[in-house]
Amino acid sequence: MRKQQPPFQRGTVQNFKHPAGFLVPAVDPNRCEGKGPCVDVCPVDVFEMGVMTPQQRASLSIKGTVKGFVHGWKQVQVVHPDACRACGLCVTACPEKAIKLARGNGVQP
Ligand code: SF4
Repeated sequence: MRKQQPPFQRGTVQNFKHPAGFLVPAVDPNRCEGKGPCVDVCPVDVFEMGVMTPQQRASLSIKGTVKGFVHGWKQVQVVHPDACRACGLCVTACPEKAIKLARGNGVQP
């Protein structure tokens, strides 16, 4: 189990700003270095740490390929995007500024 790293604290219901799935996180694979603070802070477990597949690696830029190789191809995966409550904690926590929130599908405010 991952050890939670200060100063990141897991979000709570007070952080929720929108219905689930109204906004969803988009991770830039060329920026993510698999450090994982987003996994720690997300109150609804939208992310899991994973390893990039060969198909995912093939779509990286040159800079992204170098970063991926150096970090063992570790990268967060958005496994439950429809659970996102748009608290923004993952966006703030990411040291690589790899996460943005974008409109989700099917949920109206
Ligand atoms: S904004 Fe980020 S931290 Fe907040 S619920 Fe969505 S994925 Fe989780």
